[in-house]
Amino acid sequence: MALSRLAKFFAGPSPHLSREEAMKVFRRDQFKCYYCGLDGQHDFENWMILTIDHVHPNAKGGQRSMDNLVTACQPCNLLKGKRVYKSLQEAKEQVLAKREEWRQIYQEQIKAA
Ligand SMILES: [Zn+2]
Repeated sequence: MALSRLAKFFAGPSPHLSREEAMKVFRRDQFKCYYCGLDGQHDFENWMILTIDHVHPNAKGGQRSMDNLVTACQPCNLLKGKRVYKSLQEAKEQVLAKREEWRQIYQEQIKAA
């Protein structure tokens, strides 16, 4: 992977967010996924999958301000998608509910394997 792509990857999915800005959000959130609590501070593999999530999606006019950005692991960021939620709390509940759905699918698949 080229260095520029790697830098973009670590800065999260938004091309408008600098690595410095991303680090500010990571530090504020103590390198933990806001949604599932994945700890990227004490585990390198976890740190590798941390991204910055726009609570109100960037694609739908969400700002790049600190209060609209949270640390999210890639799976949670994907599960949240570009939907607009009423509140951060609602977003968290929905993401955790989707994770639970996927956990059940996983368990069925593992059982069937
Ligand atoms: Zn997560």
